[in-house]
Amino acid sequence: PLILIGAATCGRAAGALNLLEEVKNELARLQLDANVLEVGCMGHCYAEPIMVIYNEGFPPICYGYVNEGVGARIVRDFLTEGDPGIEFALAALEPNDMFPTFADFPRGIHENKIVMEQCGFIDPTDINHYIATGGYGALVKSLAMTPEEIIDTVKSSGLRGRGGAGFPTGVKWETCHNAPGDTKYVICNADEGDPGAFMDRTILESNPHLMVEGLIIAARAVGAQKGYVYIRAEYPLAVQRVTLAVQQAREKGLLGDGILGSEFNFEIEIFQGSGAFVCGEETALIASMEGQPGLPRYRPPFPAVAGLWGKPTIINNVKTLSYVPHIVKNGADWFKKTGTEKNPGTAIFALAGKVVNTGLAEVPMSTTLNELIFDVGSGIAKGKQFKAVQIGGPSGGCLPESAMDTPIDFDSLTRAGAMMGSGGMVVLDEDDCMVEIARFFLDFTQKESCGKCTFCRLGTKHMLDILERITKGQGRPEDIDVLLELADKVKAGSLCSLGKTAPNPVLSTIKYFREEYEAHINEGR
Ligand code: SF4
Repeated sequence: PLILIGAATCGRAAGALNLLEEVKNELARLQLDANVLEVGCMGHCYAEPIMVIYNEGFPPICYGYVNEGVGARIVRDFLTEGDPGIEFALAALEPNDMFPTFADFPRGIHENKIVMEQCGFIDPTDINHYIATGGYGALVKSLAMTPEEIIDTVKSSGLRGRGGAGFPTGVKWETCHNAPGDTKYVICNADEGDPGAFMDRTILESNPHLMVEGLIIAARAVGAQKGYVYIRAEYPLAVQRVTLAVQQAREKGLLGDGILGSEFNFEIEIFQGSGAFVCGEETALIASMEGQPGLPRYRPPFPAVAGLWGKPTIINNVKTLSYVPHIVKNGADWFKKTGTEKNPGTAIFALAGKVVNTGLAEVPMSTTLNELIFDVGSGIAKGKQFKAVQIGGPSGGCLPESAMDTPIDFDSLTRAGAMMGSGGMVVLDEDDCMVEIARFFLDFTQKESCGKCTFCRLGTKHMLDILERITKGQGRPEDIDVLLELADKVKAGSLCSLGKTAPNPVLSTIKYFREEYEAHINEGR
């Protein structure tokens, strides 16, 4: 038998390491021989701790909510008496080529896993698991391609950067490739910092080699000899897993001089960020790596032309790079079969807040908000009414029930008044005050403002003061108009996207929930 225990940060927070010990102790007590693996997260964070058992004669069975005592009981009953303990099962999984799927699970109909396919099913600390599932095959293929061919493949796949802006990845690579100079860099941006977002952390904890392979292919495409993973120090498990993955890749000859016998030389170094939200912005990230204060600078020149140490530099998000091996392996047309013409592929969202099934979901672009929250997330917790969903992190917007048919893609979400961001999604219910929600997110961006621009530094502070006054029942009749005017000025007078998007939660809540502002102001509550 094979037993998988989900031990990413979400699993650990729910007691996965105790479960691991309990299962091992029970196996030893019963003198049973089973292979127990610590794996990452398969996205069902709401049901952690999670355990999957492969026992001969049965389909793989995924158990959820395996709290103290339950793991030992399932192991005992299932492995000695053949009683799978269906009452604890989340789902019987369908063995499907390499990875079992949740096809008979209601949300399985909506999910389409590309980046997350292996998450929760392989040991992230063992490169051989990744290689055994076809890992690094795309790198081998890319070594037989010219850099131009790799760039053309990524360009024609239509892949858009998943860090938030949605800029075409292949175009960025081409700019860097064509930029003059022999020294170039590639950087993986793993500085995820949005409240409620944990997609990048989960991917790095569950399958770090996918990103590493994507980064090596990016380097080969643009002609870089050195790469960095910029990862926040608050993600210790992800730092540990990525560091190990890089070390294992080096030992296998996938990094270093003459990769796999080719003339391609490339190395990766881990850089731990200190947690400033603004350092997720490309130019601030570069400044912090150069030992300067993490402040954004004017563009152009864009980093693809003059980035780290003034050299052409590609910066891609964890998810963006994690699509690359799949695209190189399967081709651009394969990728374009999912999603829409302008937004191909899948979107990975972290469902958080008042939704029943919190966790990660990977769905085709164009899935509606309704499908994601109600079919994948199983609706609102505790039988409450849905009120709004905050999408795109602190810079995103709050969309109401009337916008629930909005397809999830870069363009539709922006048109609706929110944004894709990096994939954070916080669901709000009837008990949430939308003015307070706007205050919460603005408080975050205001504190994270680097202070370089007057409007971002002082305008957001002025807006925050007004919101605090309104939520204390001390609002003034003119406050809504002042907020709208200030929002316009902050957007226009800010250098980087932190300031340009900081007013979004305020603007979207005034647009869709103006009556809540008015109630606070008029009724003094
Ligand atoms: Fe700094 Fe805000 Fe200006 Fe961005 S917009 S550079 S965060 S002050």
